[in-house]
Amino acid sequence: MSSPTRVLVLNSGSSSVKYQLLDMRDSSRLAVGLVERIGEQTSRLKHTPAGGESRECGGAIADHDAALKAVAEELAKDGLGLDSPELAAIGHRVVHGGKTFTEPTVIDGAVLAEIERLIPVAPLHNPANLTGIRTAQVLRPDLPQVAVFDTAFHTTMPESAARYAIDVKTADEHRVRRYGFHGTSHAYVSRATAELLGKDPAETNVIVLHLGNGASASAVRGGRCVDTSMGLTPLEGLVMGTRSGDMDPAVIFHLMRVGGMSADEIDTLLNKKSGLIGLCGDNDMREIRRRVDEGDEQAELAFDIYIHRLKKYIGAYYAVLGRVDAVAFTAGVGENAAPVRAAALAGLEELGLAVDGERNAVRGDEARLISPDGARVAVAVVPTDEELEIATQTYALVIGSGNHT
Ligand code: ADP
Repeated sequence: MSSPTRVLVLNSGSSSVKYQLLDMRDSSRLAVGLVERIGEQTSRLKHTPAGGESRECGGAIADHDAALKAVAEELAKDGLGLDSPELAAIGHRVVHGGKTFTEPTVIDGAVLAEIERLIPVAPLHNPANLTGIRTAQVLRPDLPQVAVFDTAFHTTMPESAARYAIDVKTADEHRVRRYGFHGTSHAYVSRATAELLGKDPAETNVIVLHLGNGASASAVRGGRCVDTSMGLTPLEGLVMGTRSGDMDPAVIFHLMRVGGMSADEIDTLLNKKSGLIGLCGDNDMREIRRRVDEGDEQAELAFDIYIHRLKKYIGAYYAVLGRVDAVAFTAGVGENAAPVRAAALAGLEELGLAVDGERNAVRGDEARLISPDGARVAVAVVPTDEELEIATQTYALVIGSGNHT
């Protein structure tokens, strides 16, 4: 029999499961969907088969087990059931792989135990990811399940970038170091950018700016990450939708001692009530731009702070790389917000960086250049595709190793 060609990608959050079923012969989507508000009375499953109408079902979906069973039923209605011999593997997005997981990994008992051991450094994400894996294992115990880690691409960072300058013994005892996140996206986009330039990724240096609601930058030298802006957790680095990004860590002691706030309160403040939403009450860049265009000063200041931080990281990673072939913008803001791209690179002509106004204004789903012809450094918009990258890595591992059923 010919090898199975389908991969199911699962991204399990604490109260949601996003999924895509891909056919790896042509990387096409056979179905995509989302289960939201798991554990509430108002859960919702939205399922869209390729070329078909979306279907929605509401009602209470008690847990991940029920969610995945509901997904399996929807897939079966389209003749794409999880019992199909065409299914080669399930690829799981796992947020934290620590220092251990540098590559996508076929999941066994030891791998599950290690993902569990990493819960203290990813208390929100890894438990949800583990639940998704265990549920999928029950549904198809015979099928290879692969973990693709958000941190893996960043494990090539040198110690000089990965370590915080704090007491080494304390840091090691508590596994405090910079891990970085969004790695699947940074890997995909840096490679796609090299391809857009017609260059070998192994010889291309790229600054990737993943600007979604969460946001991170990375410096990629010859296909390997050498620095990234998120750290022990996704809180470090750029100004984000609801996260502060970089600040003096002493702000926390100050808020504890003088503001009387608890660690949990400050955690919520910095992760959920800061960044753009903390600065101006909105975290959606579309709304912020609309307000800026109307002359709203608070929105303008929030935008300026966002851009100032972004520009600092572009400069820093330019220095880290020494030679830059391209700057690539990706994710919701990076792919759609032309004013962000223009402002982030304004005044950097001396570094060979410029944005062509007309090209920047063009909208589209394809990877494209927005720098002027002949620019020393290419500036690109490269739509990210984390699900395709997870499916590609999963399929390569399973089919490449003959590990399929
Ligand atoms: P995440 O995966 O982190 O939730 P996304 O990459 O989907 O985020 O990005 C979501 C963000 O993208 C929104 O919060 C919004 O700020 C921004 N965004 C989406 N579409 C546009 C647009 N057309 N113009 C400007 N910003 C946009």
